[in-house]
Amino acid sequence: MNKLQQTLVIIKPDGLKKSLTGNILTRLSETKLRIVGAKVVQVSRELAEKHYAHLKDKSFFEEVIKYIRGELHGEAYRRVLALVYQGEDAIQKVRQLAGATNPEEAEPTSIRGQYGRLTSAGLFENVLHCSANEGEAESEIKLWFEPEEIVDAIY
Ligand code: ADP
Repeated sequence: MNKLQQTLVIIKPDGLKKSLTGNILTRLSETKLRIVGAKVVQVSRELAEKHYAHLKDKSFFEEVIKYIRGELHGEAYRRVLALVYQGEDAIQKVRQLAGATNPEEAEPTSIRGQYGRLTSAGLFENVLHCSANEGEAESEIKLWFEPEEIVDAIY
């Protein structure tokens, strides 16, 4: 069953710092999805907390907020690259290519398997975020992008 979807992709500060933007975008191009929105964002505490609201009771919540805000990667990397991909079954296609949340458990040839790492503090540095399901995709895209920043709105 094919369904036209959009999904949010965020290249996290470790992806930028490791100079992986090109590699990650090349991997994502395997999906044949189209980019309908893209921008560099300096992530405010408020945006980070909203994005990770589902994790607020987890022990690693503070670390994950610092991580997405670039506080673990130095002044020059206090930013992320946010993208919206569109196409048939976009959410599942990107999740599949990204691999499991824990880079040690991710398929070695997935993006997280190739480029992610477990830090000594136990944080999963997995180079990109991608929406997990349709509800998440819709709310995340609305959280990160203004309607006029997306060339082809479906949500
Ligand atoms: P995903 O990013 O795959 O949708 P989650 O929303 O559950 O997964 O987690 C958000 C981010 O928090 C992950 O991408 C990862 O960086 C970090 N994270 C999640 N679970 C853990 C964990 N158990 N230990 C350390 N870091 C974690």
